[in-house]
Amino acid sequence: MISNRTKFIASFVLVLIGVHAIAEDLEPLDWEELSKTSPWVYTEVNRDVPVVAPGKQNAAPSDAVVLFDGSDLSSWEKTPFGEGVRMDRTEHFLKNYKGGASLGPAAWGVENGEIVAGMKQGAIASKQAFGDMQLHIEWQVPVLEDKQGQEYGNSGIFLMGLYEIQVLNSYQNETYSNGQAAAIYKQHVPLVNASRAPGNWQTYDILFTAPRFSEKGSVISPALVTILHNGVLVQHNAVLQGPTSFIGEPYYVPHPAKLPIVLQDHDNPVRYRNIWVREL
Ligand code: MG
Repeated sequence: MISNRTKFIASFVLVLIGVHAIAEDLEPLDWEELSKTSPWVYTEVNRDVPVVAPGKQNAAPSDAVVLFDGSDLSSWEKTPFGEGVRMDRTEHFLKNYKGGASLGPAAWGVENGEIVAGMKQGAIASKQAFGDMQLHIEWQVPVLEDKQGQEYGNSGIFLMGLYEIQVLNSYQNETYSNGQAAAIYKQHVPLVNASRAPGNWQTYDILFTAPRFSEKGSVISPALVTILHNGVLVQHNAVLQGPTSFIGEPYYVPHPAKLPIVLQDHDNPVRYRNIWVREL
């Protein structure tokens, strides 16, 4: 019987023979000669990399913009963004948008350090506008025995007020796949369903690259989205076709480089907490 130790020594010897066989037709590196000019330094990059202290258990890291820490909605306001009905309405809205679209203070509630979606009180938007970003947000759909499909915990996170990441209970709840949780609404089905059951908190970690437009308004590069849902990759560099239109085909309409993050009021009692952004 061959012992494990013998097997280990045998495999080590085989590796050495292999390395020798690969290298036998190459001259050994002349380190003395190389060190006269140190050619490796020409591909070294030296610049200051910002030091960031990571937060504990999804807490905001040191360089994040905190949009909700459990206290109040002072970073949010009521907004006409986030309608997402059809492109002709979106196009009309954007063409007439001059900035400062607030409709007044955010009318949603705060309970136990959680945002409670204001049902039929309209969407809320971050007062600060963002373009490229890393967004962390936590959400929960309560247990609702009498609800199903798109009516079971529907809300949404509109990046730039235009590009919706769907919020919905998708744990044992059937609906169209490009409208389930972590779908980029009606454009990209999530790679997997990483949903937790209703009543549990869930996380989205979203990496977003905003679209770029030329001065004349043509698309230089489309929006890109990567999403981790409860730590699981569900969207990987998904390319957006335009705003996440509810009816009809999407297309890009030029807009400012930064726009607010919007939380959707879909008349469903969804909760949010621990929202922070790192601008990229
Ligand atoms: Mg929604």
